[in-house]
Order: sequence, then structure tokens, then C-alpha cells
Amino acid sequence: MAVNQHINEILARGADGGRITPDEALLLYTDAPFASLGAAADAVRRRRYPDGIVTYLIDRNINYTNVCVTACKFCAFYRAPNNAEGWSHPMEEILRRCGEAIELGATQVMLQGGHHPDYGVEYYEELFSTVKQAYPDLVIHSIGPSEIVHMSTVSGVSIEDALLRIKGAGLDSIAGAGAEMLPERPRKAIAPLKESGERWLEVMAIAHRLGLSSTATMMMGTGETNEERIEHIRMIRDVQDMAVANGYVDDAIETRHEVGGFRSFIPWTYQPENNHLKGSTQATVEEYLRFVAVSRLFLDNFAHLQASWLTTGKKAGRTALNLGVDDLGSIMLEENVISSAGARHRSNLQELISMIRDADRIPAKRDTLYRHLAVHRTPDEDPTDERVHSHVSTIAILDNK
Ligand code: SF4
Repeated sequence: MAVNQHINEILARGADGGRITPDEALLLYTDAPFASLGAAADAVRRRRYPDGIVTYLIDRNINYTNVCVTACKFCAFYRAPNNAEGWSHPMEEILRRCGEAIELGATQVMLQGGHHPDYGVEYYEELFSTVKQAYPDLVIHSIGPSEIVHMSTVSGVSIEDALLRIKGAGLDSIAGAGAEMLPERPRKAIAPLKESGERWLEVMAIAHRLGLSSTATMMMGTGETNEERIEHIRMIRDVQDMAVANGYVDDAIETRHEVGGFRSFIPWTYQPENNHLKGSTQATVEEYLRFVAVSRLFLDNFAHLQASWLTTGKKAGRTALNLGVDDLGSIMLEENVISSAGARHRSNLQELISMIRDADRIPAKRDTLYRHLAVHRTPDEDPTDERVHSHVSTIAILDNK
């Protein structure tokens, strides 16, 4: 079969919801015409979401400490223990930031931090239960498998015990953080002290079995090959297959319309400033956009695909809406980790909604589990709070207006 004919056959199958192999995904990534690739990915999005709704979220990333023993080479955020620039926020400060976020319409916080040598399961139990006690309706979508591995090691308990305890303390959902690149070669090159990709997935699989769903991410642009990018999504698709086969569903989802532990996939591009990973290049916007489209076709068992406008910019975010994306993620009331490495893009609620309307879609505010909280069918229904915009610093939001 001629290559072009083969590509068209794969695109048609993927657009219809059929499964494509890793080799076929690689061929699409490297050789499919951009327009055809985008159209096939968009067909998947239209079939899944015929109402034309694109969702967004209001949340705040709150970092409790930048002290970390894992020293990932790509990370510009962490400081080693005993470094004079290391800090840990007291509980009162974390609560204050949660309260500010709620005042601005946030429904979720992402509590995220370094691997502090003293922070075991007990610290996270106190952190989550304190936030839940103060703000019972605020969803705690936080920490990734790396933090869970770290806390279980510090406390000398199993991953399952650590998960059950932090879930009991108030953790609602696990962030897809720390995935970076899951295949062994690129992962060792950028994060030699981090758990393996297999271990990262194993922790996710245990969480899914315990009724805690999560997101999955990928950081591209640190020198990985195209084959390794595809291998990354092959690894997470296999784990999702297992969750679907076992009927795993988030404990908070009452109707079983979506089964599987991963709710969404969020690829983003590595930011190269202020870290120890010399000589690496960022993925180009074209590479990113092509990967978004391939992901929508390949991850046939994922409900949602999110564009990362924070690292690629609003123009790329807007383009991604025609490549299978159904969600623009969060307005990011506060973000420090990726912005430490050079992400400069900011947005506000009005801009985010305009991006969605420009793509001829209907914006809707969602919660962590993708339930629609407010559908803005006409511009008259758009929210207008000008205070809701991105901050890329730890400066108090309301004091910084
Ligand atoms: S990415 Fe996370 S685990 Fe790695 S050094 Fe930074 S804070 Fe630590």
C-alpha cells in the first residue's frame, strides 16, 4: 500500500474511534499532512462532544515548599535542603491562599511541592484535612505519584496505605504531575533520582483501583525522540485499558458514563530557563500541535484532551481547539513551577472565553470531574470578573490587583 493511502486509512480509522497502533501513531506524527491530521482528531472531538462545548476551570496552584531532594535537571523551582533560598509555607498561609482562590471563583486547588526530606504521610494528612476542614467544598486535586512514592518512603508505609490515608484526609484527585517523559532513557537523562516511568504508572493504577481518578501529562522538548513521545502515550494508554477493563471509576462520579482512571491527557512543552539541563531545545509549536492531534487519535480510551496555553501561548491554545481539544484547563490564579523555568504566558477569564468563542464553540466552566457548572451559551452569559487572571508569582492575588 502506498504511504499516503496507508496514512489516509489510519486517519479514517482513528476518526471513527478505531484503535491505532504505536507504529501507526508515529507515522501520523511524522508524515501525515497537518490539515488531514487535524481534521481526523477534530472528528473524534465532535463525536465525543457534539454540543460544541469547550470547558475551562478556575483553580490555583499552591506550593507548600520548594525544598526537594530529587534535583530533577529540568526543574528551576526546587532548592536543595539547607539552601538559603528554600522555604516552606505555614498552614495559615496555605489556608489564606485557598480562601482567596474561592473568592475569585476557584473550585479546585492544586497543592504541589518539592520532595521535602521531612514530609511523610503525616504531613500530607495534616495538610489535606486542614484545607478540607476550612473549605469543605474546595476540591483538592493535588500531588502526583512522585510525591506519593516519596511520602511512603519517608513514613515507611506501602503506596496503598499512603493513598488510603491521604484520601481519607481529604485528597479528592491526583494530579498528573511528574510524568515528564515516562520511557526509561529520556527520564533518566532529565530526572535520574525520580521513580521510574513504570513506578509512576503503577502508583496511578493503585490510585485508580482505590477510586481516586487523575489526569496524565507529558512534558515534551527535553531531547526525547519522536518514538519516545509515542511510547509515553502507549504506556499510559495501556494503564487506562486496565482501568477500563476493571470498571474503575472515580468514587465521586455517580453515573458511570465514563470509566477509567485517567480523566484527561495534558501534553505541555518544557521551559528551558534557570535549570541544569543545558543544551536542550523546546519542542516547536508545530511539534506540539501535531502531538496534540495524534494524542486525540491514539488515546481512544481517554475522555478529555487539554491544551496547555501556559507553555505554548494563547495562539497555539486556540489552534489546538481545532485539533481534538475539548478543554483549555485552568486560568491558573497562581503558578510558580513552570513559570520559574520561563513560561511567560498569562491570560484572564475574558481572554480564555474569547479563545473558545473564536473557535465557534460554547464555553463552559467545569469542575475537576468535568461536570459543567455554568454554560455560557451567549456572550451575555459570560462571567465578567476582571480580577480572575493568571499570576505567575507567589504574591498574594488580591493584594496585587
Ligand atoms: S520537578 Fe519536582 S521532584 Fe523534580 S526537582 Fe522539581 S520539585 Fe523536585
